[in-house]
Amino acid sequence: MSAWKVQFDALIAPAVAKSAVTERLIIDRGAIAHVGPATAALTDTRKAIVFADQAGFDAAGSAVCDSLRASGFAVDQLVLTNDPLPKASVDEAAPFLSRLKADAFLFPVSVGSGVINDLVKFAAFETDRRYVSVATAASMDGYTSAGAPLARDGFKVTIPTRAPVALVADLDVIANAPAEMTGWGYGDLAGKSPAGGDWLLAELVGAEARDDTAWPLVQDHLRDWLSGPEALATGDFDACARLFIGLTAVGFAMEFHGTSRPASGADHQIAHMWEMEGHSINGIKVSHGAAVAVGCMVSLALYDWLLAQDLSRITAPAPDIDTSLAELARVIPDPRIADRAVAETRAKWPDLPTHKDRLARVRAHWPKTRDLMQQHLFRAQEMQSMLMAAGAPSTAADIGVSSDHLERTIRAAAYIRSRYTILDFLKEAGLFEDALSAVLARLKGGSVKGAAE
Ligand SMILES: [Zn+2]
Repeated sequence: MSAWKVQFDALIAPAVAKSAVTERLIIDRGAIAHVGPATAALTDTRKAIVFADQAGFDAAGSAVCDSLRASGFAVDQLVLTNDPLPKASVDEAAPFLSRLKADAFLFPVSVGSGVINDLVKFAAFETDRRYVSVATAASMDGYTSAGAPLARDGFKVTIPTRAPVALVADLDVIANAPAEMTGWGYGDLAGKSPAGGDWLLAELVGAEARDDTAWPLVQDHLRDWLSGPEALATGDFDACARLFIGLTAVGFAMEFHGTSRPASGADHQIAHMWEMEGHSINGIKVSHGAAVAVGCMVSLALYDWLLAQDLSRITAPAPDIDTSLAELARVIPDPRIADRAVAETRAKWPDLPTHKDRLARVRAHWPKTRDLMQQHLFRAQEMQSMLMAAGAPSTAADIGVSSDHLERTIRAAAYIRSRYTILDFLKEAGLFEDALSAVLARLKGGSVKGAAE
């Protein structure tokens, strides 16, 4: 049996059994033929509507419609144009919403990747409908997650929704997706490495303990899922299946934990800044996974630097909120983003006793946390080679972000989420400026060769 099938049985099948929402998960070659029978088993209605973007419909739409019809469904379809490409925003879900609102018996089937799945997830949730998702690329981890990361009034938030009741991933479709989309999925998965580091730091300072479900589900398998990136670039079925399983497992980890903590840290905060700014390269908005790949590299470079420090005697004055809010205003000029960022920043701001307690914990437990980080974290240089092999971006320049823009983004990122990450840790330990200068100097040439100092 292929290694990925063993993992499917060992990891994914139990996760589906445990999931409160997802009842079926089919990953295989030719899996599209199962869409109709699987949907028919989940609903009494025999009216389905296929929601897709043009790329998703081109990849799998007709086969999905055929399978649904063969299982007795009357099938309607609504395909969003690819000019302009659909945006990950609540407003973009309006046509899906209005179709579902108009007919209580329509069963929604999403055909596409990240954005389409999130739009349908949102529209289905808003109309209290279950839905089936047909994945057309291993491009992100959100297929089975409960939340839909969409912009609302210009600010990217994870909107509480429900995961699909069934997810179908046809490896013949996934492996034929544009290579860059597979690279985005690899980048999104790579971000789990520093996100795990952020969780360890949050636990170290007493901000947020790890759990014994989501943490091992992601961190115990990450090295395996990320191994052999060269095969992805050639559309190898087994490699694509392994990546898809990794992304899917992460989605379940988020569901079981109830937040995106298992999947998202400073790497995603950095990426969210570029996504919220609508940063584009060659006229095309930067994709989530591409932005995360670069955020991941920044975060891992910060970890390389941090792991070289001796924190057993660390002391630092408490950070000053007024100074931080002044910086926030400077690095986040968009008032819609800045207003939310102020609230998120205040929500995690430590009072003086908390600050002192955090530093005392660091002094007491740093060696143990550092050992755990050395086990779990990839080094930046190793990750850069892997991202490049997978066809993912690995430098800010790869996604058209200048050095100044990169610095502004790293400074801004910590403010946009109340989640505790390495950025907060460095600031509270009085190490942020030193770490930032070292990392910016190291990342400047585009390559992360050499030591962190
Ligand atoms: Zn992500």
